Amino acid sequence: MTIDHIGIAVKSLEIAIPLYEKMLGTSCYKTEEVASEGVLTAFFKLGDSKIELLQSTTEQGVIARFIEKKGEGMHHIAYAVSDLPAEMTRMKNEGFELLNAEPKRGADNKWVCFMHPKGTQGVLTELCQEIDQH
Ligand code: ZN
Repeated sequence: MTIDHIGIAVKSLEIAIPLYEKMLGTSCYKTEEVASEGVLTAFFKLGDSKIELLQSTTEQGVIARFIEKKGEGMHHIAYAVSDLPAEMTRMKNEGFELLNAEPKRGADNKWVCFMHPKGTQGVLTELCQEIDQH
């Protein structure tokens, strides 16, 4: 596994993108809406890892509710895996609670699965695998 990205919940991409561009010294290379999750995402490349900024597109969305409870800040960490279904089975067998039973389509051309933070020392954890384009 490698760290694919770290997700950060923000109220406004309009404010957060230029701020992160200034801090990281690199431009946001992609913004993408994931309608099924009610989020607008913005990505920054840092070596082999990325920073993903997440803004809610709905008042009741997961990111809106997260910010309401905890404020802006770190939302999740994502690990890249080469065989997501196999990793999901392994995690389930190890007793981790998966938040989706099947891989679902996430941002940045990825299959993703989230694991409940209760079972991972308080950190919402994402497993992701690049979607094969062939
Ligand atoms: Zn993510």
